[in-house]
Amino acid sequence: MATPLSIQNGFNIDQYNLQLDIDPSKTNFKGIVTIAATLLTNATSLKEIKLHSKNLAVTSAHILYSTKDDSKTNLSINYDEINQLVILKPENNAQSLSLSSTTFEIQLSYTGSINETSTYGVFKTLLKNNSKKDNFIIATHCQPSFARYIFPCIDELSSKSVIELSIITTKGLTVLSNAPIEQVVEKKSVRSNCTLTTFNKTPLMTTSLFGFVISNQLEVITAKIPSSSSSPESKDFSVSVYSPIRINDATFTLDTIQKYVPLLEKFFQFNFASIFKNGFKTKLDFVLLPNLADMAMENFGLIVIQMNHLLLTPHQLANDSLRNQLEQLIVHELVHQWIGNYISFDSWEHMWFNESFATWLAIHLTNSGNEMHEDSSSYWYDDQYLIGMIDSQLNNVHNHSLSSMTIHQNSAMIKEENEKKRKDILVTNDVFDNDSYIKGIIMLRSLQLTIQQQEDGNHVDLLSNAFASLFQQEKTENNNLHLKPCKLMDIWNQIGKYLKSENIPNFISSWTRLPGFPLLSVKQDEDDSKKTKLIQNRFLDGYAPLDKIENVPYHIPLLIKLPMDNKLDYENVLMTDRTLTLNHPIFLCNNESQAMYRVSYESEIYYDQFISNTTTTTTTIGGSTTLDRINLIKILKDLSAIINNVHYCKPIHIKGLFKITNHLIDQLKDRDAHDDNLWEPLSIAMSILLNLERCYSKYSGDYYDNEKKFNEIVEKLVGESSTINWELTKSRRYEAFELETLSYISIIFKNHPEIIKINEKYYDLLRSDNLKISGNLIPFKLIGSIFLVNVEQFTNGKQWKRFINYAKDYDRLMANVRLEGESSKEVQELFHHELWSYAGYTNKTEEVVMKVLNYIDSNLELELVPLILEGISSNFNRVVVASKKQESDCSDVSLSVGDIFWKWFMDNFNKWTNKCKNNKSMADNFHTLISIAFDYRSTESKNILIEDFIESYKGQEDIYKLLRTTRKVMKKDQELPLAVLKALTPLS
Ligand SMILES: [Zn+2]
Repeated sequence: MATPLSIQNGFNIDQYNLQLDIDPSKTNFKGIVTIAATLLTNATSLKEIKLHSKNLAVTSAHILYSTKDDSKTNLSINYDEINQLVILKPENNAQSLSLSSTTFEIQLSYTGSINETSTYGVFKTLLKNNSKKDNFIIATHCQPSFARYIFPCIDELSSKSVIELSIITTKGLTVLSNAPIEQVVEKKSVRSNCTLTTFNKTPLMTTSLFGFVISNQLEVITAKIPSSSSSPESKDFSVSVYSPIRINDATFTLDTIQKYVPLLEKFFQFNFASIFKNGFKTKLDFVLLPNLADMAMENFGLIVIQMNHLLLTPHQLANDSLRNQLEQLIVHELVHQWIGNYISFDSWEHMWFNESFATWLAIHLTNSGNEMHEDSSSYWYDDQYLIGMIDSQLNNVHNHSLSSMTIHQNSAMIKEENEKKRKDILVTNDVFDNDSYIKGIIMLRSLQLTIQQQEDGNHVDLLSNAFASLFQQEKTENNNLHLKPCKLMDIWNQIGKYLKSENIPNFISSWTRLPGFPLLSVKQDEDDSKKTKLIQNRFLDGYAPLDKIENVPYHIPLLIKLPMDNKLDYENVLMTDRTLTLNHPIFLCNNESQAMYRVSYESEIYYDQFISNTTTTTTTIGGSTTLDRINLIKILKDLSAIINNVHYCKPIHIKGLFKITNHLIDQLKDRDAHDDNLWEPLSIAMSILLNLERCYSKYSGDYYDNEKKFNEIVEKLVGESSTINWELTKSRRYEAFELETLSYISIIFKNHPEIIKINEKYYDLLRSDNLKISGNLIPFKLIGSIFLVNVEQFTNGKQWKRFINYAKDYDRLMANVRLEGESSKEVQELFHHELWSYAGYTNKTEEVVMKVLNYIDSNLELELVPLILEGISSNFNRVVVASKKQESDCSDVSLSVGDIFWKWFMDNFNKWTNKCKNNKSMADNFHTLISIAFDYRSTESKNILIEDFIESYKGQEDIYKLLRTTRKVMKKDQELPLAVLKALTPLS
């Protein structure tokens, strides 16, 4: 569909003949473009001709009638600057141009400029070199809409044409473009010492893929790709890598191209040479450029990449992960040559898919050969993909679920914004949405697995065949995806037809048109324990009103693992309805966390199966299915999201969490020294426990029974945790997850005598003067928990005062800390936050609580006040030892941190309202103080007190309004933890 600002002409452009005259010493260039066009209807007249053009000065324009007749019709030249157009009209105010046939040619002469500051259009980069001063690379960048800076054209994805380029420039330079060079001849008629380089015709392509390079300093390495076809016309072709420097460090790039072009030819069953069938020869160049804002661009036959990404020393290449990244990047650019370039899309709204597809296939091909996931080098099974990509995407969508958009809506919005923006420079980032890109990769990967799973035992790579079918040459005009730019669903409808499956296009529609992702509930059937019931719903965050959200079923790739022999369920691979009943028991869904959804296991049997089959060793217990590291982590991550969500948290989840945690702790006894397979899941389990603990300590008054049960389990856990080695020695190395786990254990079990003892010891070490000499520095990851446990134990104001003085002596403290991978900025921010929020974590005696409150009172303008308040508020329900003078007054009433805070708050409130009038930072902190006070009081039984307090200010309009608004905001924020806690109440 034409967009309002796209060009509406009565013709299509078939071919551009473009001749450029580029003198590298000048900042302008000259061009002559001859455009061959065909009218869309039989009418042989045109009102006007519109072409995209930006920063080009068109000097002449005319219509060529035919090759026989030399006559030309001159055209008048007009510009529409806002829409970046040059408009050609008949001269002498004639109403229309009459043409002799439905095909015609237009010729324009113009000048353009060479960009020396940014990397779009034609741009020049000077190469810094000690010996010669004038070394340069002139290159181009056209995506998404910079071809119009190089020649007048229809610069839109909906227009595909052939480009035949020739370049006049100084003799002896390297000149490259999309197609191979046809010939180079001297061109003395133009300037002395210059040549004309003529290139073959390009394939049909969009202008965004056009490119050329001119340089006096390019080194090259070349390799041959053997013909993979038996056809006699098909010949070997060469691939080359060009670089202005260090060409030897580009060997890996060349090897990778040489290795993967044949694999791609095999995947698509379509040779690279067939892509360039318009020309006589085929070639493929990679050119490394010093600067490129988009990092890499897959110009047809002329891929350009910013050189620091590809020039790697043998030493750098020894790093597996760096080498894999590089391989993936190169293959990604190669994939575009087939899908994205040869088969191209009609609108930028499909950009996300173009990029997702290239990344998916690149990972698929670079993984092939080590597809068995036991090999940890396989990208699909490593943390970067599973946790870095899938899980953070799930959290991302979750956090914005009310506003979360579908890929489809996202693309439409991007398109709309771009149209508004046309006047400014549009860059690739404007047409690219990262969330859709990542969702697209996950969608393709889970589709691949679903299709493979359906055909297990049959080794034909079905998806490869399906994609290959898109390239079959016998396609008619109607379904040939190369001849006309296509839409996303054109591809998937054809693939669905090929695979004889309606589900394929439906699967893609589902994941592009539905927002968010599903939660799949798995239950044993109540009547028949052999049966399994599956129910799916859209996953929403805890604040979203469930009943007001559209809840359409997704196409869920089930990826079921069965309870015996680690087998997958090949019968049930896809769920398309709300519910599904299986006639057999299962072990888990979403095996290896490869699809985009969370699973809620709602029968105890699942947790029992998990723990009876979790081992940290690789030994398989005969017959039964084992739970490996990725599945265990996925189960815990899903539990974490579910337990923290009021809509989904049920007692079974808490029970399951305790089962798994207990089991993990039991395994502490016979673990390996550096067993991250244990520490990582344990640290996730501990982080969920910590959230529960915070819920309980904040609301313990009303939910005491619940808390008691939690504490019983905690006791058991802490008993087992004594098997942990807490010794810090110079030689000991820590796993990051081990430190995280130790820190969580300290925070959760902060009042346990063992934990107190250990942390007091660390606290003393941290304050000592000679720690660096002994070498036993305290790991940074433990600092927060050391503060917390110690501050929690303070009983008098002196201890607290010492802590504060010591905390202010930042440098001395940091000298005793060992950093492991943390950057110093990160350390400072974290440190600041933890230190001051834990400074408020005192709850043993009234004396020490008052000390903290008085500190706040006298420093109300400091930015650390909200942090201290955060610490205090987490202890509101803790009962404290009252100071002696008050003991006689109210001997029986237990006093909590919150009670002290509330009294202090009411006593000082009027003073603060006066003090804050002219002090912005003090006023901000005062507002935080009010909401903290309301936070405590708004538990259900105490709501009346706070209402009375607010009402007592009814006469003072400003204050009354402030209190009311704060109260309103607070009420909303309050709902979640309280509701989660209620969901937890029937804990058994
Ligand atoms: Zn790309």
